[in-house]
Amino acid sequence: METEHIAENIARIRAQMAQAAEAAGRKPEEVLLCAATKMNDAAAVKAAVAAGVDCCGENRVQELTAKLPQGAYTGRPVHFIGHLQTNKVKQVVGKVDLIQSVDRMELLACIDKEARKQGIVQNILLEVNIGAEESKSGFTPAGAMEIAAKMAGFSGCRLLGLMAIPPVSLHPGDNCRYFAEMRKLFVDISMKKYDNVSMECLSMGMSDDYADAISEGSTMIRVGTAIFGPRNYNV
Ligand SMILES: *Cc1c(COP(=O)(O)O)cnc(C)c1O
Repeated sequence: METEHIAENIARIRAQMAQAAEAAGRKPEEVLLCAATKMNDAAAVKAAVAAGVDCCGENRVQELTAKLPQGAYTGRPVHFIGHLQTNKVKQVVGKVDLIQSVDRMELLACIDKEARKQGIVQNILLEVNIGAEESKSGFTPAGAMEIAAKMAGFSGCRLLGLMAIPPVSLHPGDNCRYFAEMRKLFVDISMKKYDNVSMECLSMGMSDDYADAISEGSTMIRVGTAIFGPRNYNV
């Protein structure tokens, strides 16, 4: 896709985000736009940054490591949003502003250990498998609640919220119930006021369902296709 369409696409998404927020009685600035940059090169990512996305989310360690020195994300925070293997944790901790995809206890422990070794605090979200899908990783809602209660024991990390990727929806509105469940869990954890937890970010909604996610209380949508066009998996 030509990078020249990226700014137009982002302007259109911003307008739809504002509309969805206002329809739900929310302020447009309550919802951040994260560009899901996988399989898009540094030039495309730079165009999205220039067009004013709030942050970038990268899925693969290899792409993150390649695009960082190219200055792809410069000027905006960069997040890790993909499945992270423990043997690659070193390449991500301290390099990104937020790891959104902490999907299992082993990974949390590994990130915490690496962050303490580096003498930093790594911001994280817990990924919740809200559709209880076999094919997806992530905590159950009860599991996420349990981890939040134990965050005081992970001084190398700070929990800033939750992330979810609900099932692929066939019809508009299909995922509203999952988004609503996520919002409830987010509020429940916030109200507990656990140590080392500051619930600021509820990351949910992608190209096909971000308006529904915003209606249900998302504070960050992660959008790839609607910004960059379809990804080419054959290259
Ligand atoms: C690819 C991806 C997205 C964006 O998906 P689109 O449907 O292209 O908007 C969002 N979140 C995660 C974790 C992704 O991997």
